[in-house]
Amino acid sequence: MTARQAGRDLDTSRPHSARMYDYFLGGKDHFEVDTDAALVAADAHPGIFVTARENRAFMHRATRVLAQEHGIRQWLDIGTGIPTEPNLHQVAQSVAPDARVVYADNDPLVLKYAERLMRSTTQGRTAYIEADVTDPDALMSAVDASQVLDFDQPIALSLNALMHFITDPHDPYAIVRRLLDSLPAGSALAMNHCTPDFDPVTWNKVAEIYTGSGTPVQFRSHSDVRRFFDGLDLIDPGVCCCHRWRPAAPADGTEPTDAQIGLLAGVAIKR
Ligand code: SAH
Repeated sequence: MTARQAGRDLDTSRPHSARMYDYFLGGKDHFEVDTDAALVAADAHPGIFVTARENRAFMHRATRVLAQEHGIRQWLDIGTGIPTEPNLHQVAQSVAPDARVVYADNDPLVLKYAERLMRSTTQGRTAYIEADVTDPDALMSAVDASQVLDFDQPIALSLNALMHFITDPHDPYAIVRRLLDSLPAGSALAMNHCTPDFDPVTWNKVAEIYTGSGTPVQFRSHSDVRRFFDGLDLIDPGVCCCHRWRPAAPADGTEPTDAQIGLLAGVAIKR
């Protein structure tokens, strides 16, 4: 895609995480500057394409488990990314056609494609808001204004591959706490997060590449990722490497390694 095709308001002078991630997933909604940066990251970590796919697969499984086993019918998905089928609402509505989802991202490119996130069932509803998770009060006001979610009923907060973009000076734990505080008992937190734990050399290099290209990241250890779930009831199997979280199919010998995936994932319920 060219910047002209994409329209105004897009900073195409530097790579952006959503567009790099779109490249890793095999999408078409990115620019040369994103491909160049993505290839540098892929050079440091050739498994990054598998990481991106496994990240998506975790979102699918976590959404199904929350809908099927915990009766969740509403989601707030922050850091949605460029739409990639199936999107969260399509997974949720395949289990519960009345599921409602509010999507939020701070990248104008995601807004441009937001109509793809609006193809809801007639029984369900979706909305897209442009918002930054580092201002959770403003984000929650925008969610309220969209009038899609019923705050008297459980809501799953979905933060997939987002919080490693929120460095410690932004107090990521306080942000997640603030978001969860708005949600009633029975709500859930589903998240995954890059970690250097399984292959520090590679993942520290990936972190340097992202930060050096203008997107600061902070990959966190198991205990630091586990902290996001403090005060919540983690469901089985707890916080583990993403592809091991309720794997859909038994291992067939081609399973990726923890070092390749480098993502910790967990799902928990608010009492
Ligand atoms: N959740 C999707 C996409 C992950 S890529 C998935 O797991 O498949 C990370 C996304 O987070 C990008 O779309 C990026 O634009 C968004 N993002 C990064 N920082 C953000 C912030 N401060 N507020 C909101 N969204 C942010």
